[in-house]
Amino acid sequence: MDSPTPVLGPLLHEGKAKRLYATADARLCAVEFKDTATAANGRHQVYVPGKGRLNCRISSQLFTLLEQGGLPTHFQGLLGDGWMLVRSLRMIPLEVVLRNRAAGSLLRQLPTVAGQPLAPPLLDFYFKDDALGDPFLSEARLAVLNIVTPEERMRLETMARQVNSTLHQALGRIDLDLVDLKLEFGRDHTGQLLLADELSPDNCRLWDQQQHPDSPERILDKDRFRQGLGGLVDAYRTVNQRLQALDLKPRHSDSRVKS
Ligand code: ADP
Ligand code: UDP
Repeated sequence: MDSPTPVLGPLLHEGKAKRLYATADARLCAVEFKDTATAANGRHQVYVPGKGRLNCRISSQLFTLLEQGGLPTHFQGLLGDGWMLVRSLRMIPLEVVLRNRAAGSLLRQLPTVAGQPLAPPLLDFYFKDDALGDPFLSEARLAVLNIVTPEERMRLETMARQVNSTLHQALGRIDLDLVDLKLEFGRDHTGQLLLADELSPDNCRLWDQQQHPDSPERILDKDRFRQGLGGLVDAYRTVNQRLQALDLKPRHSDSRVKS
C-alpha cells in the first residue's frame, strides 16, 4: 500500500531528478524523487513511472550501508515511498567522480578500452554547473574556483575513496560491478562535510556480473536510457531486489515533518 505523502514546507529547489522541500525543522529537508530520466544535462527528458521510488529505496539502502561503515551522510530516514528526510546542507558545487573501470566520457577523452580496470580508482572533480556543461577541473582550476580549502579538498578525496571502496565491495557481493559513480558533498551548520544527494543507478554505472560481459543486458544503470536500450525500470528493480540480500533496513522517519 502507498504511504501518505508527507506534509511539508515550501519547495526549496526543483532539479532534474528531485524536489527539495523545507520542513518544520530548519536543519532538515525532505527530498522527493521524481519519475523522470534526463540525459545531456537535462536536454533529453522522459517520464519513467516507478523510477523515483526505486531510486529512493536504492539510495536509502546505500546511505545506510555507508553510515554503518562510519561514513557521514545526509540521510536521516525514509518518509513516504519515494521520499527521504535529509540534513539540510550548503552544497559544494562539485561532482566527485570515481572510476573503477573505464566507461562513458573517459573513453572519449583518454585512449582507454571500455571496462578496462583502473587501479587505484581514478578520482576527478567536475564543476557542477549546467550552463557550463559541468566542466572537468584540474587541480589548478579547482584552486581558481576557491570553493574548498586545501584541507577540505583532501578530506573530500579521502571520503570519496572510502565511499567508493565500501560500495564496490558490498555491491560485488551481490554480483553488481560498480564501474563508476558521481558523488556530491555539502557542509552542515558546523562546517562538517557530509555525503549528500543520491546513490542510485542514475549516478553510477552498474554491470551485472551474472550476464555475459558483451551482453547489453549487463547494463543496470542510466546508460540503458542514454543508449536507448529500454528496460530502465526493470534494471533499477533488479538492483533494488539484489540489495535485499544485504538486509540493510534503512531508518524510517516520522512523515508529519510539518503540521
Ligand atoms: P540537479 O539540481 O542537478 O538537477 P536534482 O534534481 O537531483 O539535481 O536536485 C537535487 C538538488 O539538491 C541538487 O542540486 C543537489 O546538489 C541538492 N542537494 C542534494 N542533497 C542536498 C542536501 N542534503 N541539502 C541541500 N541540497 C541538497
Ligand atoms: N554522472 C552523473 N551526473 C553527471 C555526470 C556524470 O551522475 O552530471 C555519473 C555517470 O552516471 C557515471 C559517472 O558519473 O556513473 C561518470 O560519468 P561520465 O563522466 O562517464 O559521463 P557520461 O558519459 O555518463 O555523461
